[in-house]
Amino acid sequence: MELVYTPAQQAFRAEARAWLEANVPPAPLGSFDTAEGAAEHRAWEKRLHAGGWAMVPWPVEYGGRGADLLEWLIFEEEYYRAGAPKRINQNGIFLLGPTIMEFGTPEQKARFLPRIASSEDVWAQGWSEPNAGSDMAAIQASARRDGDHYVLRGQKTWASRGAFADWLFGMFRTDPASERHKGLSFLLVPLDTPGVTVRPIAQLDGETGFAEVFFDDARVPVANRLAGEGEGWKVAMATAGFERGLMLRSPARFQSTARRLVELCRANPATASEALREEVVRCWMDAEAYTLETYRTVSRLLAGGKIGFEASLNKIFWSELDVRMHETALRLLGHRADLLPEAPAAAGVGDWLDGYLFSLSGPIYAGTNEIQRNLIAERILGLPRSG
Ligand SMILES: Cc1cc2nc3c(=O)[nH]c(=O)nc-3n(C[C@H](O)[C@H](O)[C@H](O)COP(=O)(O)OP(=O)(O)OC[C@H]3O[C@@H](n4cnc5c(N)ncnc54)[C@H](O)[C@@H]3O)c2cc1C
Repeated sequence: MELVYTPAQQAFRAEARAWLEANVPPAPLGSFDTAEGAAEHRAWEKRLHAGGWAMVPWPVEYGGRGADLLEWLIFEEEYYRAGAPKRINQNGIFLLGPTIMEFGTPEQKARFLPRIASSEDVWAQGWSEPNAGSDMAAIQASARRDGDHYVLRGQKTWASRGAFADWLFGMFRTDPASERHKGLSFLLVPLDTPGVTVRPIAQLDGETGFAEVFFDDARVPVANRLAGEGEGWKVAMATAGFERGLMLRSPARFQSTARRLVELCRANPATASEALREEVVRCWMDAEAYTLETYRTVSRLLAGGKIGFEASLNKIFWSELDVRMHETALRLLGHRADLLPEAPAAAGVGDWLDGYLFSLSGPIYAGTNEIQRNLIAERILGLPRSG
């Protein structure tokens, strides 16, 4: 790994910074867990795409910029530095896109990738079911082959963006006699298919971006299957690697939070005890450590390597760091920590409470940290499986 930016990388950074400075909306967009906010975010994605910045590491023919992963990291740093909006189509651009690149046919790549890059199609991830969360191999939603179609039955739950998405990617049991991770297939399902019902799930804050999705004899063409019939588990594990290991949470996100935390500490000398100041420093250093580790992973990938079970280490690290940074911020804020962003006297303080509430879900989504620790114990350390 070379820890110096080349002139070409510096020029790329300057170009990204200039475009973002000229184009990032001056006021924050609405939450994409609301219909209005989702529409604003779609408009932002289209602007990014028109500027050529929607998905920098994808090939140009699929709507990308043909940049490499190091340039992607640089772009992410500039993106967060500019305070640009969160990506509504993160399931499509960061999870499904790389999966289609690896497993899709040329027709599937041409059909799906450009529409993902431009966010014409916003995607939901349909893996979890009421009885298949941590135990994902317990999936029961089925897909029965009928000529050129699959007929889907069953239910998915906790689909982020599900309420406002256009498509869902998910695993379905195509072999009715199969058990566990065998006999599953990875299917791409338009959410407006007759027989598909999307029911929003209200969160504690009343917003309804989450959804459960029901399939009652919904017909989906066989051409919408990624990889072979029965190969769904293999494909999904690759998607999980992209999710936990690299794409879902770039280091820039945590560096940006760490910078804000340092500013908050400086602005609140009265509550910044020595112990809290030490915790701020530790958070900042951990964000830097995660950044360096990601640069190392990217260097390895550029040399032809693959993401393996170390993705689980990353996922635990960034999710726990996010909780710690937000907890530290709330302690620095003292009694003002309870203010919601919309409270008259909040003056931006409430963003920390919002961020804290969301950070609590980090150890749960993308596979809980308990399950990641099991994977590390078994697959990296070679310890025996627990009973
Ligand atoms: C914000 C958010 C967004 C999400 N988005 C999506 C999405 O877009 N698409 C999607 O499909 N799903 C999504 N999920 C669902 C998420 O993947 C599941 O919640 C998660 O996999 C855990 O499954 P579960 O909720 O069924 O909990 P359970 O599996 O019932 O687990 C409950 C608890 O028991 C622990 N546990 C279970 N088994 C073991 C074991 N063998 N060893 C040790 N501990 C164990 C778990 O770690 C957890 O703490 C999302 C969840 C959240 C919170």
